[in-house]
Amino acid sequence: MNLIDLGWNDHLEQHFDKNKDDSLIPARIAVQQKDRYVIFCETGEFQAEVSGKFRYETSSKADFPTIGDWVAIAHTEDETSAVIHRILPRKSKFSRKAVMGGGETDEQVLSANIDMAFIVAGLDGEYNLRRLERYVAVTWDSDASPVIILNKSDLCEELDQVVSEVESTIIGVPVHPVSAVSNDGLDRIREYFGKGITISFLGSSGVGKSTLINSLLGHDRQKTGDVRDYDKKGRHTTTYRELIILPEGGVLIDTPGMREIEMWGDEDGLSKAFDDIEELASGCRFGDCKHENEPGCVIQEALSAGELDKGRYKNYLKMHREIERLEIRKIGKQAHTERLRGKKFASMVKEMKRLKDRYKR
Ligand code: GDP
Ligand code: ZN
Repeated sequence: MNLIDLGWNDHLEQHFDKNKDDSLIPARIAVQQKDRYVIFCETGEFQAEVSGKFRYETSSKADFPTIGDWVAIAHTEDETSAVIHRILPRKSKFSRKAVMGGGETDEQVLSANIDMAFIVAGLDGEYNLRRLERYVAVTWDSDASPVIILNKSDLCEELDQVVSEVESTIIGVPVHPVSAVSNDGLDRIREYFGKGITISFLGSSGVGKSTLINSLLGHDRQKTGDVRDYDKKGRHTTTYRELIILPEGGVLIDTPGMREIEMWGDEDGLSKAFDDIEELASGCRFGDCKHENEPGCVIQEALSAGELDKGRYKNYLKMHREIERLEIRKIGKQAHTERLRGKKFASMVKEMKRLKDRYKR
């Protein structure tokens, strides 16, 4: 196993050098199960745990290593396992909200250092443009780059039409129709693979992620199955966390968490995914236009002229509200701690109220 195959690159090298500590070596988290890890490093695969100091000094769950993280480790004296001393800075991260004791939310990082997210949809009737938009927004938010894969092209009769619909709705994201069963279009996907690049697959259950991964790898890495292998909630029962080194170079991260990704984070990803709507809105007469029935509202004009799709606008509002709720909870949590320290509680309550009002639609 060499570091380059694991996704190591110049940027990481520089960073590792800066914090040089002769006794530590770089490693990548391949499996995480609560506070136990499996790491890959130049000398092979090891069980690992964070050091006592790391645990003591780290309060936020989000700062603990997760799959895909690069870490600095030391082998134990008998060289059978490893101790994680620190995390190297993350290039990207996919997170979701975790509900804590007391109903507060905390960030849970599902995977780190993903360069490219393949967002998969199935063209067998499950296909949903709104959901694709959400996955794209989540991906921009993570700092990875999105690529849309429309799988099961063998089951779609209006392929060209669907591809151009997706391309014209989700601007700036490459769209590739493929079939994991007939292997049509898979070479286009392989072109994205390469040394130093880490990819991951997102998409609802049943769209064909496992089948695609197997076809791309050329062997059955994961068992795929038909409906009887799904549990009562419709989830595939055979998935598990994993980091896979690709034969073409590069790394694939496939974890159940990434498959059930939810919203977390700020509005940057949303703005990028819906920048056409944000641009339209900037033309409204009033800066604080709620796009309801204010005079000079460009959004309402575009909706009634049919220039802005109603479904897409509704989806945009829905995502805004989700982010809103998270922001309000975050401020609420902060306000709670600040008040204990006797600080500006009132101004925070005001900010919460402002946020609530802003999206009251
Ligand atoms: P996952 O839940 O996203 O991992 O989906 P799976 O890989 O388990 O696939 C779900 C079902 O779709 C399985 O029955 C696959 O055989 C089927 N499937 C996957 N890809 C294709 C495809 O390109 N064409 C067709 N016709 N079926 C596919
Ligand atoms: Zn408006």
